[in-house]
Amino acid sequence: MHDRTKTLFIETVGCQMNVLDSELVVGSLRRQGYELVHQPTAADVILFNTCSVRAHAEEKIYSALGRLRRHKRENPDIVLGVLGCMAQKDQEEVRRRAPHVDMVVGTGQLARVPELVEEVKRTREPQYALSLGRADGGKHEVAASFESFDPPRDASMRPTPFQAYVRIQIGCDKFCTYCVVPATRGPEQSRHPDHIVAECRQLAGEGCKEVTLIGQTVNSYKFDHGDGRRSRLSDLISRIHDIAGIERIKFVTNFPKDMTDDLLDAVRELPKAVKYLHVPVQSGCDDVLKRMKRLYTVDGYWEMLHRSREKVPGVAISSDFIVGFCGESDKSFEKTVDLVREARFKNSFIFKYSPRPGTKADDLYPDDIPEELKKRRNNDLLAVQNVNSLEDHKTRIGDTVEVLVEGPSKVGERQSAGVRQLTGRTMTDHIVVFDGHDRLVGQTLKVHIREASPFTLYGVAETGEVGGGGLIPRSAVADPSSQRRSLPLV
Ligand code: SAM
Ligand code: SF4
Repeated sequence: MHDRTKTLFIETVGCQMNVLDSELVVGSLRRQGYELVHQPTAADVILFNTCSVRAHAEEKIYSALGRLRRHKRENPDIVLGVLGCMAQKDQEEVRRRAPHVDMVVGTGQLARVPELVEEVKRTREPQYALSLGRADGGKHEVAASFESFDPPRDASMRPTPFQAYVRIQIGCDKFCTYCVVPATRGPEQSRHPDHIVAECRQLAGEGCKEVTLIGQTVNSYKFDHGDGRRSRLSDLISRIHDIAGIERIKFVTNFPKDMTDDLLDAVRELPKAVKYLHVPVQSGCDDVLKRMKRLYTVDGYWEMLHRSREKVPGVAISSDFIVGFCGESDKSFEKTVDLVREARFKNSFIFKYSPRPGTKADDLYPDDIPEELKKRRNNDLLAVQNVNSLEDHKTRIGDTVEVLVEGPSKVGERQSAGVRQLTGRTMTDHIVVFDGHDRLVGQTLKVHIREASPFTLYGVAETGEVGGGGLIPRSAVADPSSQRRSLPLV
């Protein structure tokens, strides 16, 4: 039996930023003696770390909160908390739709979670901790109200101890018209490079081999030291590159207009820099990009693509798209299809436009594309992308690639004599599935590629210790679960 007074359940929705926030919240509560459990009804503290990027993510949380209403009535001593983007954006709405919630804590206040949990337990009064809204004060005042929450790391809280997200930037100042992030995460602020390097050093000391630097527009990272010196993302990557034990450095998500040559040079020159860029374009039509206020044109994006491929030979590039944005005509959509056909992205994340109250697009433009058409466009674009992904994957058959083994493959698992299907990623972020022993997890090894699907490469590890060495059955091809690990910053 668990000690019901010190058990914690947390559900996380959304992007890497939220995954990292949850890791840190759980770590801070564990230091207070909390033990993580996997059923909400077995927990004394139940937390939802939320996402507001699309309506669907919010509705999922309201449904989960609704399902807990009776449980909370029957167990009034438990603490029920809503954290993150929905908390920051919609505190009133959360209170109205889920009055049984005890705690509403915005993205910039997560460091206070342990204190607020205790406060709820002590007073049985609801607790609210939110940062200022973007219009509630001057830029510095609003920025100061969003704390960068980066306490000491706890390796046992990560899905894999040899991989870690490292926040280098919070917030966003781009204000794309469809997007809630500038409201939910506040003004763009870059962390001090010394703090980031110290965190990476600590992670390396704990056995971490791969760090993924995260920021909403990570390549806009800049830190002014106040003495005329400025650190850019390329400088930061060079410093992290010197840390013994770190084998791979990734960064997501990039903003097309901020893809500078110094960054591309660093990615080419530094062997530990992963040769992969996630650079969302969103649409292939200039009119749509203008209404989205993306600050670049399709030609500008092509220039960035060509330059990236020229400067970093063999680089893999992926993108995000929003289909069915306000006023997206058939012709506009066709331009996006053409872009996907020609740009040869490694993969694309495609989203149906979801109007978000409080954004410019929601104020200015009617959501005039019917849901059915959004769905059709989503499927059509995905089909074009999948053809390209498969072609790209087929060119890799016969290659021997270096794979950092992440764990068991979630689909088509097979276990015999300790052998099972493992999954990992190459230096170009391609997913590779192969047969191997559990003890290979966390190692970097060479895998010979023998087969390909649109989502996955299949191969044989060059370890000499894998029984059979057979190929993975075709039925195991699509492994969307492993795709989830590289979800964009949503
Ligand atoms: N900062 C990154 C960038 O600008 O490329 C991406 C962050 S955004 C939160 C992640 C992705 O969600 C976006 O690239 C976009 O494709 C999608 N997205 C954002 N707002 C959306 C909305 N209102 N409806 C549908 N998709 C949306
Ligand atoms: Fe910022 Fe990205 Fe949202 Fe644009 S889509 S406002 S760049 S987070």
